[in-house]
Amino acid sequence: MFKFLSSEPIHNPTAPPAVPATSEVKCTTCYMCACRCGIRVHLREGNNGPEVRYIDGNPEHPLNKGVICAKGASGIMKQVSPARLTQPLLRKSGSERGAGEFEAISWDRAYDILTQRLAKIRATDPKKFALFTGRDQMQALTGLFARQFGTPNYAAHGGFCSVNMAAGMIYTIGGSFWEFGGPDLDRAKLFVMIGTAEDHHSNPMKIAISKFKRDGGRFISINPVRTGYSAIADEWIPIRPGTDGALFMALLHELIRTDRIDHAFLKRFTNAPQLVVLDEGEREGLFAFDPNPEKGPPGDGRHPHNKLVWDTTCGKVLNAYPQGIADGCDPAIEGFYTLADGTRVAPSFQLLRDRVASCTPEWAAKITGISADRIRTLAVEMGHAAFEQAFTLPIPWTDAWGKQHPTTQARPVAFHAMRGLAAHSNGFQTVRALAILMSVLGTIDAPGGFRHKAPYPRHIVPNYRAFNDPGMIQPNTPLNAAPLGFPAHPDELAIHPDGSPIRIDHAFSWEHPLSAHGMMHNVITNAVKGDPYRIDTLMMFMANMAWNSTMNTSAVREMLNRKDIDGECMIPFIVVCDAFQSETVAFADLVLPDTTYLERHDVMGMLDRPISEFDGPVDSVRIPVVKPLGECKPFQEVLIELAGRLKFPAFTTPDGARKYTGYPDFIVNFQPAPGVGFLMGWRGKDGESHLKGEPNPKQWEMYEKNNCVFQLHMPETMHYMRNWNREYLDFAKDKSWRQRNDPIQLALYSDTLQFFRLAAQGKTSGRQPPDELRERIATYFDPLPFWYAPLEEAATDLKAYPLNAITQRPMAMYHSWDSQNAWLRQIHSHNYLHVNPKTAQAAGILDGGWCWVESQWGKVRCMIRTSEAVEPGTVWTWNAIGKADGAWQLAPGADEARKGFLLNHLISEELPFKGAKGATTISNSDPITGQAGWYDVRVRIRPAAPEEPHESFPQFASMPAAPGVLGKAAQVITYFAGRKKS
Ligand code: SF4
Repeated sequence: MFKFLSSEPIHNPTAPPAVPATSEVKCTTCYMCACRCGIRVHLREGNNGPEVRYIDGNPEHPLNKGVICAKGASGIMKQVSPARLTQPLLRKSGSERGAGEFEAISWDRAYDILTQRLAKIRATDPKKFALFTGRDQMQALTGLFARQFGTPNYAAHGGFCSVNMAAGMIYTIGGSFWEFGGPDLDRAKLFVMIGTAEDHHSNPMKIAISKFKRDGGRFISINPVRTGYSAIADEWIPIRPGTDGALFMALLHELIRTDRIDHAFLKRFTNAPQLVVLDEGEREGLFAFDPNPEKGPPGDGRHPHNKLVWDTTCGKVLNAYPQGIADGCDPAIEGFYTLADGTRVAPSFQLLRDRVASCTPEWAAKITGISADRIRTLAVEMGHAAFEQAFTLPIPWTDAWGKQHPTTQARPVAFHAMRGLAAHSNGFQTVRALAILMSVLGTIDAPGGFRHKAPYPRHIVPNYRAFNDPGMIQPNTPLNAAPLGFPAHPDELAIHPDGSPIRIDHAFSWEHPLSAHGMMHNVITNAVKGDPYRIDTLMMFMANMAWNSTMNTSAVREMLNRKDIDGECMIPFIVVCDAFQSETVAFADLVLPDTTYLERHDVMGMLDRPISEFDGPVDSVRIPVVKPLGECKPFQEVLIELAGRLKFPAFTTPDGARKYTGYPDFIVNFQPAPGVGFLMGWRGKDGESHLKGEPNPKQWEMYEKNNCVFQLHMPETMHYMRNWNREYLDFAKDKSWRQRNDPIQLALYSDTLQFFRLAAQGKTSGRQPPDELRERIATYFDPLPFWYAPLEEAATDLKAYPLNAITQRPMAMYHSWDSQNAWLRQIHSHNYLHVNPKTAQAAGILDGGWCWVESQWGKVRCMIRTSEAVEPGTVWTWNAIGKADGAWQLAPGADEARKGFLLNHLISEELPFKGAKGATTISNSDPITGQAGWYDVRVRIRPAAPEEPHESFPQFASMPAAPGVLGKAAQVITYFAGRKKS
């Protein structure tokens, strides 16, 4: 019996359990957030077979080494969540979308409905099927499904998450943060984190930071808000949202002005010395090249190596490779030169130097709110760490041109950045500026700096072209390319001959040419507008598009139910696959109940998003540790089943029989290229080869025996400088991680962007953007980084809406995944708007008071908490804590719905724009990548009137429980490990 104010523990973890002890321990991989830590699931016999007793971290796992966070340990409550869906559901005939009125149906019927509908679409106009997924980890399979279906309308969540971070880095250094690379905190002396709260790579980052701090490292966090990692930084530097790019430009200004740059690195490993044409014409702003055809192709984003440099030793123009880097040569990175044919040229670094010349600390101080002195000393600190604290490791390596380096140069200043930089409409150029800042300090794949993780680095530009041929969308025909990729040239855009978009989300069109992850945030709006066409079926997986995954939530909810003049829904059929009764489930026509991560097989592999470490590739799996609840089926199995029924060529034999019995069989036996599969461990008939080899029928068992993970430690000689490391480049090509083994020169200057700009300026004879987009492309596709105010500001009365509003991700919940988690919702049952005391006082709102937050797009009512841990021009709240009433099986009137709120209501998915054919809007996104501009919204706050209800606004009609939903909240709240169930 719990005694009030007693010092007696309510649960003694050392006491013998009241029920039989753990009967079994199974290892798998956590999915309470996207970090993918190894876990041990302790099971005991329950009424219906083994049930979860508790979960702890797997000490044998290379990623988290036994560490588990609050979310990971609370996985047990996800398993028994009252919000679990347990059977397929069909919207009741005559009921409205959003009302959540369903009848339970069998899987046979669900499959029949789907197969019939999808087969008809595939046989007539495949692009009328759109598949969009949320924060899943299986895009290699979902992308393949869409490609085999024959629709270009596919993407996962990256376009509304952090594509600016991925694309900005990949187009500059060939790799990116998180899965694909990160800070080497084992060797860094200074660590600068920008725009990151409690975020991706959670446990590994926490482990690394704690060791870094114990070892005496200095940690600076630059963020508008001091939460999460910033709270334990040695110094917090508050910055205004959307201004990070200005800070980086000023730091570049200072580092270059004071000559704190790595000259040798820039000359050999970047395009800093390569000569850029200055004369007007169709080669203006592109790299000059040797016209001798024997020297190779003229050079573009995919073939970048036949360029020219000016050798200061002999005073001549030389080929960049190999002459320009030969012993005795000293390529200029500054100055202006003239080629033999009279063409005026300059090394690209000279142009960078000119670009940052006016970006003084004083200029940046006005934009960022950081004092000019602090910017100057920050540059000094960075330079000091990179050069005065530099050291070498006794690791010899050979570069791509055969030069032997007896040691490896460390540059011990490490950076880490994420969504705070990315989720702005100026994010791509901001991230480019950061990547260039890291490059001038020589920190790329250097000890103590940024380090890649296999299969990165990729080529700049990666050799994956997105599908772009409208003529190839044919009935019953797979696409000839994957729906997503990395465009290197206007010729690779997914557009019709008249320049209009091929895709429903307008990704890869002139509106957002480099939208490498698609633009899920515009799918519903565009589909409802019929822009560029209407679709028939929208299938969504793990994406809460009727709530926190969408901008403009209230309007999108209305759109999901909008009808045409014939009374038919503008999106005729919506399929939602989810394990829980989210807000979006209520809008589905067909609901497919998914499993939890403890009930299914999963793969985190090299074809998708592996969990590689700096010193070698790592992939991992999930295996089912308990059986699926009710009639739940993994979405992977649903896709394999549908692929068989729809007779996709990759999933059926020539006589139409199914090739794969299910997902585990598919994973073992599917090979996109000979010897290459989803998993790289234990390949070959007997499991004796790794990375490449024949399919191994016992591959799953071998992963299971090995903590569900495969790790390869590469030799030390392949640990660093992998953009140029001959041994590594050959190895990566041999293992099919790359198509070529040529070096990856860092793109301080991006001729890829310049190709688009020249087209927009009408200086090239090839594809050109429609007139209304010319100026936009010419402005933002600048080959050098620059800072511009987020686009929303131009459409906003900044005097009326003076504050920036942003969200942060809490430590205890990953997006909306755990609102129904009985343990975790005790930490965050509702959210507040966090406001600097000065700002609150100026608005006349007291701590804890109710207020209105208004943008030009909408308004919400919420409670305020004042805090010094936010810069005065910013207000913020936790993401996705507020819920629609009744969603996630929360009791009607639960705090999440009545006190919690969603900032999304204040954000528009579109901005005003005078477009073609009378269009008046364009996506509220980065004009280069299509990244959603979540953090660009401007707001004002005012007190709520005393007579107003103490309840958040807006409110929605309560969602009823879906048939078969688990619901047992009272029981799970009293669940304790080792105790008898109540
Ligand atoms: S950090 Fe993420 S993956 Fe790791 S234990 Fe926590 S919730 Fe699980």
